[in-house]
Amino acid sequence: MENVIIIGGGPAGLAASLYLARANLNPLLFAGSPPGGQLMLTSDVENYPGFESILGPQLIEKYRAHVQKFGTRIIDQNITKVHLNNSPFTLSTVDKSYSAKAIIITTGAKALWLNLPNEQRLRGKGVSACATCDAFFFKDKIVAVVGGGDTAMEETLTLTKFASKVYLIHRRGQFRASKIMQERVFKNPKVEIIWNSMVVDVLGEDKVEGLKLKKVKDVILNHAKRGEGSLANASSNESRDSSSSTQNDKENILIVDGLFLAIGHKPDTDIFMRQVEFDSKGYIITSARLSLELAKFKIQSSKFKVTVENSKLEEIKNKFNLNFHSSTSVEGVFAAGDCVDYIYRQAGTAVGMGIEAALDVEKWLGVETPNY
Ligand SMILES: Cc1cc2nc3c(=O)[nH]c(=O)nc-3n(C[C@H](O)[C@H](O)[C@H](O)COP(=O)(O)OP(=O)(O)OC[C@H]3O[C@@H](n4cnc5c(N)ncnc54)[C@H](O)[C@@H]3O)c2cc1C
Repeated sequence: MENVIIIGGGPAGLAASLYLARANLNPLLFAGSPPGGQLMLTSDVENYPGFESILGPQLIEKYRAHVQKFGTRIIDQNITKVHLNNSPFTLSTVDKSYSAKAIIITTGAKALWLNLPNEQRLRGKGVSACATCDAFFFKDKIVAVVGGGDTAMEETLTLTKFASKVYLIHRRGQFRASKIMQERVFKNPKVEIIWNSMVVDVLGEDKVEGLKLKKVKDVILNHAKRGEGSLANASSNESRDSSSSTQNDKENILIVDGLFLAIGHKPDTDIFMRQVEFDSKGYIITSARLSLELAKFKIQSSKFKVTVENSKLEEIKNKFNLNFHSSTSVEGVFAAGDCVDYIYRQAGTAVGMGIEAALDVEKWLGVETPNY
């Protein structure tokens, strides 16, 4: 029987394990396969305190060595099943079962990509899914953002603080983002919107040099020709294409130095479905999140979007132990990092949440906290 098992070996899980190891709780961490989380997908990280510049995979390597030095046991395997109905909890990999008094879920999230032929090859070389992380690298450069929701608007506005020009490419003729965010984007002189267009490939050998765009109408025709059905909801509005893109018969080439995808994230939480409470997008609800959403609901501020359905909040609130910020709806199961956090999504914030979860577990297990 383990004291505590951590599921997920990104910044949140590693941070939790460090505190638990130093509290003599002998944590077991399943880092997943492949291990390391989202930072493994990036090159330079320049906003992690203590490191002016470090490669994402190098930061994770250092972190793993650090936590192992203090006694964390790491297994680079996925947990494939969990049973959280009864304590102690049971978890299994493909070949073995484990049981634990407490669990911390730090399975993170995955940025959604377009799956273009050259997108992954140029990831970290101009293709990114995080403007907060990478906008700084595009000072006075030309970049494009793909998306139409609030995140795309935010990414676009963040990029305007660095880039000389930001194209916002959307496959429909209108955005689904909130009006206020749209207005900010429309007003920004650095932004040019390319409606009714899809990026079909990224160009460049060692770095992004441009994008291949197609009008949505062309894409619909090609899909129909190949018998793949049509994009029924695609807008038929007239395109207002960029004047600086060059046209050939079918595709426009747009010259840019960077491509930012803002088409959503998917939290890696499927194996916990129906066992802990989630919001409608699959993010795990913790006590801290619940309290915040309830407070927002109470003050009925129109400024905030209530993302957990209001009626559901009332229904589920008795399941949470509000003494522990990171507690899920199951007593003894805690969660931290990007599988909970749909707003900030940074390594530093994931680390902070991981530490909170570790301290919650220590308290929850009733262990005297040693000196820090
Ligand atoms: C391209 C890119 C660049 C970024 N750059 C920066 C940056 O410069 N600075 C910054 O602060 N942030 C950056 N971020 C964001 C940062 O990487 C994330 O916010 C952070 O990694 C979240 O940490 P996490 O531990 O919550 O989750 P993750 O990093 O997503 O880690 C989750 C871990 O859980 C594991 N896992 C999932 N399911 C299971 C399972 N069933 N069993 C076992 N393990 C499982 C995964 O394999 C993974 O190891 C970037 C993100 C991306 C995508």
